Amino acid sequence: MGILWKEKIEKAVGVYAHIPYCVAKCPYCDFKSVVSRELPEKRYAECLLRELSSLIKKEGFDSSPRPLESLYIGGGTPSLFSPASIERLVSFILSAFTPLKDIEITLEANPDTVDLEKLKGYKRAGVNRLSIGFQSLIDAELKALGRTHSADKALRSFDAARSAGFANIGVDLIFGVPAQSVDSFTESLQKAVRLGPEHISLYNLTLEEGTPFHGSYVKEKNRSTPPLPAEEDELGMYGAAVELLGEAGYIHYEVSNWALPGRYSVHNRRYWSGGDYIGLGSSAHSFLSAPGWGRRWWNENDPALYMKLVDEGGVAEAGSEILTREEAMTEALILGLRMLDRGIDAVSFKARFGVYPKEAFGEWASLVKEGLIGCRGEDLLLTPAGVLLSNEVFLRLKG
Ligand code: SF4
Repeated sequence: MGILWKEKIEKAVGVYAHIPYCVAKCPYCDFKSVVSRELPEKRYAECLLRELSSLIKKEGFDSSPRPLESLYIGGGTPSLFSPASIERLVSFILSAFTPLKDIEITLEANPDTVDLEKLKGYKRAGVNRLSIGFQSLIDAELKALGRTHSADKALRSFDAARSAGFANIGVDLIFGVPAQSVDSFTESLQKAVRLGPEHISLYNLTLEEGTPFHGSYVKEKNRSTPPLPAEEDELGMYGAAVELLGEAGYIHYEVSNWALPGRYSVHNRRYWSGGDYIGLGSSAHSFLSAPGWGRRWWNENDPALYMKLVDEGGVAEAGSEILTREEAMTEALILGLRMLDRGIDAVSFKARFGVYPKEAFGEWASLVKEGLIGCRGEDLLLTPAGVLLSNEVFLRLKG
């Protein structure tokens, strides 16, 4: 990490605004999202603004406004909200900080909740980056995932986004989906690449406790239909993606993320670099790296309770933690390794903790011997083999 980048992330802040509503609940999802017949759009949006005003006073940002590097409106399904609500949100949040000239403003969109007019409205509202949740471009897989859109709708939403003027679009795909094979996953990926998105995220389906998928595939021991792919097929999908996206000119800059040069997600990079961010809305998390080794807090999960608490007292904090030096170091090591192009930057690490990464991470030498991590001077990085086994490396890091 260069010194300039370090200064930038230390002074600047990112804001995440969570919109927790969805059209339907996907059977694999354990996010705190709710399906609401009557979308309380106006009231919820006002609560986000009220919460921000309270936090700005509480954290003392009103006396010295922080530079704002990124705003990310995620969910849930933020594209259920009208362009008017998004515009109000964006303009209020920007006015509360000093936005950087090249601020990144992302909105997550689901293909079946957008059309050209709505996308133009988001563009006018100041959104300059879209993240579209394709999940798959094969209809049978979308059906198995319980998604409400078709592959054709996903492709048309991308075209509409380009027509609306978005020059920075990310798309998400999931691998390890029921009914998926290495070939069908590769087909989805090829279709996505042909569109030329600036950013591609690939997520491995996880079976979270309490979800219908967990019941079907863990409790039923994968006897449900369609079945999940075998673990070696999942590895094959990831491997195929590394090859295909590399050939297409995408940089594999984070374990699950690829981007065209210069099109990394500024907001997500802030999370991985240990930068400050403020989370607004139900279940949102916030992190400030000072004072001490950092403080994290999180909001109530239930949107109705969130709104009630904000109405009553301006904030809806459900819990918080103050990091110890050891916790902050372990986080910095894991997050640093996730950034494949950059790794754990030894200069920044030493400046923050007073020791080099190798001194803080006793097992580094054995992981180097096993070919899972490599060194660039004092910096540590995951090797291609380490990327495939990254979860194992992170577990060993946690000790
Ligand atoms: S659309 Fe996304 S947030 Fe909503 S239920 Fe489906 S996976 Fe969860």
